[in-house]
Amino acid sequence: MTGARGIALLLVAALVMAGCGEQESSTGVVPLSTTPTASPPPSTATPSTPRPGSPAPSTPRVSTPTPVGTPNGRPGASHNSNLMPIVDHGPRDQKLVALTFDADLTAAMRKRLLSGKVTSYYNATLIKELRTLQVPATMFLTGMWMEEYPEVTRELAADPLFELGTHTYDHRAFTKHCYTLGSVPRSDMLADVQKAVTQLDKLDPHATRWFRFPGGCYDGTALHELAPAGVTAVGLDVPGADGFAKSPKPIVKQVLSHVQNGSIVVLHMHGGDNAPYTDEAITPIVKELRTRGFQLVTVTQLMNGNR
Ligand SMILES: [Zn+2]
Repeated sequence: MTGARGIALLLVAALVMAGCGEQESSTGVVPLSTTPTASPPPSTATPSTPRPGSPAPSTPRVSTPTPVGTPNGRPGASHNSNLMPIVDHGPRDQKLVALTFDADLTAAMRKRLLSGKVTSYYNATLIKELRTLQVPATMFLTGMWMEEYPEVTRELAADPLFELGTHTYDHRAFTKHCYTLGSVPRSDMLADVQKAVTQLDKLDPHATRWFRFPGGCYDGTALHELAPAGVTAVGLDVPGADGFAKSPKPIVKQVLSHVQNGSIVVLHMHGGDNAPYTDEAITPIVKELRTRGFQLVTVTQLMNGNR
């Protein structure tokens, strides 16, 4: 992905991916959907105005549809000791699409959960739909989410439809300015990612080494610091716009109007007040993708050309 179009898409992607995150800070940019009709996030958020031009993830970016990992290693395992690799999409010559679901949990979200303001950050209806429709999916779990839902994590791990990767410990960002997400100090970056990987390994014997940056935010420093973690970052080319959505319709429209061969679609599985309509959007999305002839696969299958 290069040039102005690439940069624009990255910005769009980052905006929507950030929709999965924090919303209580009064200082940063409130994450929104990319659709023009998007509204600010609900009640608990302190309204704020997006700063023009902020913040796009910065280069370097490695966009390659070539398979990663090794035959004997875990999917997504990286042996690059200098830079964490990144994939944004799979082969463009095959009708394969990977639906991915992030399970965020920030300190503020956990507070709302513990206070009873939010009853659950596990969208069980969504997972049930995926199972009913037999949709393979890749899920990126934060460490804090695994702490709240260890049994669910085990169940997801045991389901051959799904594969699991990590999404940091508590969904802080890996750049200084990433919407309202706090940031992980450089000195803590590697330990943070390793912590989530270790947590997942305890719950999932088949844990992959796929990883996703909170808010889609990273820079060269982060990629360098995280190289020893042995994971591969999974970006996207289709942000699902389910963060703070007001209805399922814009989510369905966003996905179906942008998806193409090899797409990686980002949606969220925590539900609650942060992504309340993903479960209602998923069935129309899946049905239409299949009608168009797309085969839904995991990220591992996508990157291997479904071999
Ligand atoms: Zn997230």
